[in-house]
Amino acid sequence: MGTYILWDVDGTLLRNGKDARNLYHEAIELAAGRAIANQLPHMHGKTDGQILTEALAIYGLEPSLHPVASAHLDDLSRLRHEAGMRREICPGVPDAMEAFAARGWTNALLTGNSAMRARFKLAGAGLDVDAFDWKHSYFGDVSPMRSELTIRAQEELLRHAIVIIGDTPGDDIAAQAAGIPFIAVATGVYSVEDLAETDAALVVDDLDEGLPAVLALIDGFAR
Ligand SMILES: [Mg+2]
Repeated sequence: MGTYILWDVDGTLLRNGKDARNLYHEAIELAAGRAIANQLPHMHGKTDGQILTEALAIYGLEPSLHPVASAHLDDLSRLRHEAGMRREICPGVPDAMEAFAARGWTNALLTGNSAMRARFKLAGAGLDVDAFDWKHSYFGDVSPMRSELTIRAQEELLRHAIVIIGDTPGDDIAAQAAGIPFIAVATGVYSVEDLAETDAALVVDDLDEGLPAVLALIDGFAR
């Protein structure tokens, strides 16, 4: 019995990357072996697996290129990391993680990124990667749907209390599909007003200002 806080990465733990869209596009170009005009729509809240599937379809490329593009995406993330490109941590995140851990709750990840990409981004931003339970974390490099991740988390953590913290309506839909309570933070592209239209149990501007409310909510069902 315990309590798992499943964190989204982009827009939630870390500010969104400015060139994220280009990274997916570049991975597709490398997989296709040729230049392609960038026509990708915005993809906030989608898994990497889903974004690559949709991008291949938009460009009329074979779905079989997916694993190749996925490997390029990991490589591009590593190269960006090695080149010194760093994400910024969202307000209040380190204190929130500490407050959760101090209560005996476990910080873990539920993200559309691969484990490798998540690790590069978090370490690069200066978050302690060992503060997360990687064995009970859920990654979207293969899963085409975020709800597959939430349903797997729900099944594996059945005896535990779980909550998802994320920044998009897509996070909410996936959380609701698995019956997991969702807390929304407006540190990504969606505003408090946008997120208030979801089924989130709580919407906060950020975890700096919103931490007391977040703790009070989770205290209500923590195990
Ligand atoms: Mg996000």
